[in-house]
Amino acid sequence: MRIASRLYYPAVIVILLFSVVAAGAADQTIVLKAVRMFDGKSKALTQNGVVIVQGDKIVDVGSNVAIPSDAKVIDLGDMTLSPGFMDAHTHLTLDFSGDFNKRRLEQLDLNVSEQAIRAVGYARRTVEAGFTTVRDVGSRFVSSREFVDVALRNAINKGVIVGPRMLVATKGIGATGGHFDPTGGFRDFLFGREPDYTDGIANGPDEVRKAVRFEVKNGADVIKAAVSGGVLSLADEVDTPQFTPAEMAALVDESHRLRKKVAVHCHGDQAAHEAIEAGVDSIEHGSFMKPQTVAFMKQKGTFLTPTLMASEYIMSKIDQYPPTLQAKAREATAARSEMFRNAVKTGVRISFGTDAAVFPHGQNAKEFALMTGLGMAAIDALKSATSNDAELLGIAQKVGTLEKGKLADIIAMPGDPIADITATERVSFVMKEGKIIRNGPPSMQTAAESTNITDIAAPVD
Ligand SMILES: [Zn+2]
Repeated sequence: MRIASRLYYPAVIVILLFSVVAAGAADQTIVLKAVRMFDGKSKALTQNGVVIVQGDKIVDVGSNVAIPSDAKVIDLGDMTLSPGFMDAHTHLTLDFSGDFNKRRLEQLDLNVSEQAIRAVGYARRTVEAGFTTVRDVGSRFVSSREFVDVALRNAINKGVIVGPRMLVATKGIGATGGHFDPTGGFRDFLFGREPDYTDGIANGPDEVRKAVRFEVKNGADVIKAAVSGGVLSLADEVDTPQFTPAEMAALVDESHRLRKKVAVHCHGDQAAHEAIEAGVDSIEHGSFMKPQTVAFMKQKGTFLTPTLMASEYIMSKIDQYPPTLQAKAREATAARSEMFRNAVKTGVRISFGTDAAVFPHGQNAKEFALMTGLGMAAIDALKSATSNDAELLGIAQKVGTLEKGKLADIIAMPGDPIADITATERVSFVMKEGKIIRNGPPSMQTAAESTNITDIAAPVD
């Protein structure tokens, strides 16, 4: 009894102290002020923006908001507050591009656990660049059964490491010999067997359903599939369809029954039309889509994730890709600019997505200037990375705008992004769920990694 009470009382004191500290932290009101504010949905910026944060939520927002006397005020001065950016197309578990053959060799050498350790730094760089949420659309390692994206997401959610909120797709689903076949381009049977649904490779509607179920079972938040050929794969043509309409219908039906959205990698026009018809939620890339397909997208409300950064970066390093890939990259890039202009003109819903891993992680914001360069209004480009992406990802009730009750994912960039869209590339304040991740220069870790970038390419485009 005595021993028990001796143990009991200190434990009670510790619990009480902990509760006081925890309550204190939750009650700490933080006020963010800046000369300008983008709220994620309005047609213009608000002057003298104020956001009041308590715990992990926004409790008030506007330009003439009363500031509680006990609040900690962070006055960011000549900056623009914004909802945290989102990127609907990343590959945080893969290394970025530059030298296709070097990367291909490294795929065979690199232990998947080492790849996971590298990804920790990629996640940090991405969130420090202002991207508080990403939809990570494909994480596969030839001949490995690991789900590195699921592990990365879980470690971030548990607070073990710092990174963006992740919605992950696990391996991505594709046809034998298609863009997602991890053995494509290697010697026949080098890996001892043909990949199957456990690798994301499926043929026929029933197998496609099985692959969807397998990925959801293993932690997928979203389903990604390759319905046409791609640029960075050796065994396919860039624009040929890779799933039949029946396979696409099964893909969408099974995913939606399990309340998962469907993102499809698609460059070709025929495959895009069939995918839109099947009811996919977003077309990724869409390079060769003709005007009538773009109009069909608008009619069906399908999102387009243009990933302009991917082709931009590949073209800047074109000599470092094999000749067949060079030809595919040239063709896709030549087509995508006109397709994008047309999509903007038609009023298609555009989601912000970059294909990070085809270029160095953390440079996601360079997509904004490419979008405005091809005719998109700056305010619409900002919306694409906030409220549009939140809607596509199905998380608009929680994030995407600066509104009372939303999670406090708030960033700030110097100057006025409407006057100079490249301000988005200089984000220097990042808060995620009420916690300040960055206020000023990047962390030592990110700064060191950014100056120590090696050039490697991943077959993900
Ligand atoms: Zn991709």
